[in-house]
Parts: sequence; C-alpha cells; structure tokens
Amino acid sequence: MAIEKTLILIKPDGMKRRLAGIAIDRFETAGFDMVAAKIVTVTEDLAREHYALLKEMPFFPNLIQFIKGDFHGVPDRRVLAMVYKGENAVKGIRAVVGATNPEQAAPGTIRGSFGRISQGNFENVVHASGNPEEADREIKIWFRPEEVIG
Ligand code: UDP
Ligand code: MG
Repeated sequence: MAIEKTLILIKPDGMKRRLAGIAIDRFETAGFDMVAAKIVTVTEDLAREHYALLKEMPFFPNLIQFIKGDFHGVPDRRVLAMVYKGENAVKGIRAVVGATNPEQAAPGTIRGSFGRISQGNFENVVHASGNPEEADREIKIWFRPEEVIG
C-alpha cells in the first residue's frame, strides 16, 4: 500500500452551501489526514492552470467562471484548498467524492448526496485529484512545500 497525498478543493458551491464540514468529516471518517488547508479566492490564472488539461472541453469557460465563484448560481469567491494524506489516498478520496456527474454519483458519496446540475454546469461541491501524477502537479499549484505538513 502506497502512502499518497491528494488535492481536495471545496468549490464555491460547497462553501456557499456550508458543506465544508460535512466533506471534511467524510474524508476523516474514511481514514485520511488533512496535512494542508487554506481559503483561496481563485484568480483567472490559477483557474486556468488548475484546469489546464481541460482547456479544449466545451464546458471549460463555464468551469473557469464557476471555480472563480462568478458563475450565475454561485456568487461566492471562496475555495477551501486542502491536501489529504493516507494509504492509496488518491483513489480512496475519489471514492468518497463520487462520480463527476452529480446525477451519476452513487448515493452516499459527497457528490451523490449534495451535487446538482445548474444550467448544464456540474455543481459537484468538491474537486479531488484524479491520479497520483495529477495530485503531484495540483498540490504544487496550490501550496508551497512548507505549507504541507509531513
Ligand atoms: N465538468 C462539467 N461538465 C462536464 C464535465 C466536467 O461541468 O461535462 C466540470 C465539473 O465541475 C468537474 C470539472 O469540470 O468536476 C473537472 O472535470 P473532470 O472531468 O476532471 O472531473 P473530476 O475530476 O472533477 O471528477
Ligand atoms: Mg479531474
């Protein structure tokens, strides 16, 4: 079993709906440890860097607006960025988070419980890195090395 780190974001919809505590409870209950955390207002540059691999997708412009907190239904400019650590953390956290599309996310996952679709935009409450390489890239975007403990 590999000890991994993974990046979690509570997106603006999750912050506005005060779901951060529930999400953190689920990550901790699943056995993962928070090793970095901060509230961030996402700039255009940070949004584009984080979602760089999706820049050709049709939903990209809405996604950039959404994560910045200016998308129509979600006027909230806070994202809670965190790093979690544990055995197979990348896959384990994704399992707690659930599928990308809130309508397909299993009941009991964060997205299955709280995600919704608004005017075609997936308001799915949380981001979690998709694989270990993505996790390494994303943690470096959001945190300086000294901000991540252990
Ligand atoms: N997204 C969307 N519509 C789609 C696919 C993705 O709005 O058809 C948004 C959604 O917020 C998702 C994010 O783009 O979480 C990143 O997409 P990705 O495929 O990486 O999904 P994730 O890794 O977040 O499950
Ligand atoms: Mg992804």
